[in-house]
Amino acid sequence: MSVTLILACAGKGNRAGFEKNKLLVDFGGSTCLERTLSAFVKSGLIDQYIVTASEEDYETVKKICSPVGATVILGGATRTESVYNGLSVANGDVVLIHDGARPFVTLKMIEECIATARNTGSAIPVIPTRNTVVTADGEYIESYLGKSGIYSVQTPQGFITEQIKDAYAHTHGRKGAHARTGANAGADNINVFNDDGEVYKLRFGKVNVYAGDAKNVKLTYPEDFETLYCASNYRFGTGFDCHKLVEGRALILGGITIPHDKGLLGHSDADVLTHAIMDALLSSVAERDIGYHFPDTDEKYKGANSIELLKQVLKIVDGKGYVVDSVSACIMAQKPKLLPHIPTITKNLSGVLGISPDKIGITATTLEGLGFVGREEGICVHANATVKGK
Ligand code: MG
Repeated sequence: MSVTLILACAGKGNRAGFEKNKLLVDFGGSTCLERTLSAFVKSGLIDQYIVTASEEDYETVKKICSPVGATVILGGATRTESVYNGLSVANGDVVLIHDGARPFVTLKMIEECIATARNTGSAIPVIPTRNTVVTADGEYIESYLGKSGIYSVQTPQGFITEQIKDAYAHTHGRKGAHARTGANAGADNINVFNDDGEVYKLRFGKVNVYAGDAKNVKLTYPEDFETLYCASNYRFGTGFDCHKLVEGRALILGGITIPHDKGLLGHSDADVLTHAIMDALLSSVAERDIGYHFPDTDEKYKGANSIELLKQVLKIVDGKGYVVDSVSACIMAQKPKLLPHIPTITKNLSGVLGISPDKIGITATTLEGLGFVGREEGICVHANATVKGK
């Protein structure tokens, strides 16, 4: 049995508010179209790739899809027309029709779609609606459809190729015969169908469903793309610092003064925890380290409040297009006992970093009396940070 995939990419995709087709915008190194295509390529279940494209995007789409040997064909004025054009060159036993704007399709769905279509003729993924569904005229609710038995339809939709070709052949060209109904009905939408399942249903009466996936969203509006951008745009950084413990200095960790008979020695306030966190953040956006940005040879930083320096680091991170997602740190100190102070330190850092306390994980450990930390000569901190694209 061979399988054809038709990827519908001929839309304008302009509701997403980008200057070009949303499918062709780069997010963290790859476009939505590349991600969607890659999900099917990884499955290893597709024998023939057909991608529909508008005239405007034809060359770009062709370039993106050429590594998989896809046939790129011009779409029509509507999705229905585009799929019809795509079907004309489909030669698999089963055909899967998928929206180019659904990059989160899972292997499980692809497998189930193929199996259901092969066994029953048709396979439409549906998910139960989470919201009560109503009809409304824009001002008033007309009627309640409820939630029970109400589903949202997704793609990929699978069919026995000969059957869906037959269904399209019977409906195509019969203008007005099966016009889309509901809010989008109108003279301009004649011969436009909600989806391929509807075309199939009109011809064969029965359409089989399989379980869709809530994560398999169709990226349509600008906010939908935040998921795509963030999912691909996390970065990780690491930092380490160490300061000497001496008498006559305050012990400051994460901006909090910890009662102790010794404190940390340094050019600034020697807040070793904040320093390690700053380095982790700078490392995450590849912006050198605190020694580079705040040299200890500069008199300006003598006795500096490290929390104020951390705020400057946050500006650097922001300037690179990122926000802090999470921070973790391990404080290595023989004394004092830090356990009771961790919640206060966490709360203080939460306010400065602008993230929830549950995104800040701080641990403390002794070194069992070993080495300079064990001899209470100094305190070390290893910190990590993740940042995400704005
Ligand atoms: Mg330091």
